[in-house]
Amino acid sequence: MPELPDVEIYRQYLNSTALHKQVRNVETHSTQVLDGIGSRKLSSLVKDSRINEATRHGKHLFVRFGKNDWLAVHFGMTGYLAYYKDDDDQPEHAQVVFDLANDYHLAYVAPRKLGHLKPTNDPQAFRNREKLGPDALRDISSADELARIMKGKRGGIKSALMDQETLAGIGNVYSDEILFRARIHPSTRVAALSNTHYRTLFTAMQTVLKKAIDKQAEPDRMPKSYLLPHREEGAECPVCGGTIVRRKFSGRGAYLCEDHQEKLT
Ligand SMILES: [Zn+2]
Repeated sequence: MPELPDVEIYRQYLNSTALHKQVRNVETHSTQVLDGIGSRKLSSLVKDSRINEATRHGKHLFVRFGKNDWLAVHFGMTGYLAYYKDDDDQPEHAQVVFDLANDYHLAYVAPRKLGHLKPTNDPQAFRNREKLGPDALRDISSADELARIMKGKRGGIKSALMDQETLAGIGNVYSDEILFRARIHPSTRVAALSNTHYRTLFTAMQTVLKKAIDKQAEPDRMPKSYLLPHREEGAECPVCGGTIVRRKFSGRGAYLCEDHQEKLT
């Protein structure tokens, strides 16, 4: 599922392709991905407008058309953006296609139709309405701040990191990676974490998210010392030589190394 680093890469992709281009037309191939707007309304909203800005909060991309018409874009499990010229290059599962005045197209591709495009005229209001927490990379600037937002959370640290109302942007893959680096077991209760743990966790969170963005959110490009290139059961742990295992926590499959990830009680 696209998480903060993936969506940041999509934002950069949009900025280097469709930014400042004018929309000539919009084709909606599946209204299932439209939320709070129909295909005709979407068309009249963005037609003849320019794509003026793209911002990100957590796993959401906000795209501004014209003066103040935004679309909040969520990528579901496998969504992404594609910019291309020839119709032959249109990816399969392009659900919404913006035809641009330079004869190129920007497509919102979602094979499983689980993401959505939702209109808003205020990303901050959208964020409040959807109860999205602070952005995991941009809005948390210290271990103390992380400790403060985690305070009082029940349950395990992996679930808390993935809870978008607590912290926006982290999902299954990067919560595993952060905890792997911080040497903390995913099922450790939030209540058991000390200030020292929060310092380790904060540093790991910043390092992992920045590194992933730096590597274009491509798992194969991550350093060998990270979990991502070894994310399979039975693989050798690059940190301690132990064995990577898969366990279920709160219904989600987590990858970890029980030899160096400490379970705190
Ligand atoms: Zn290990």
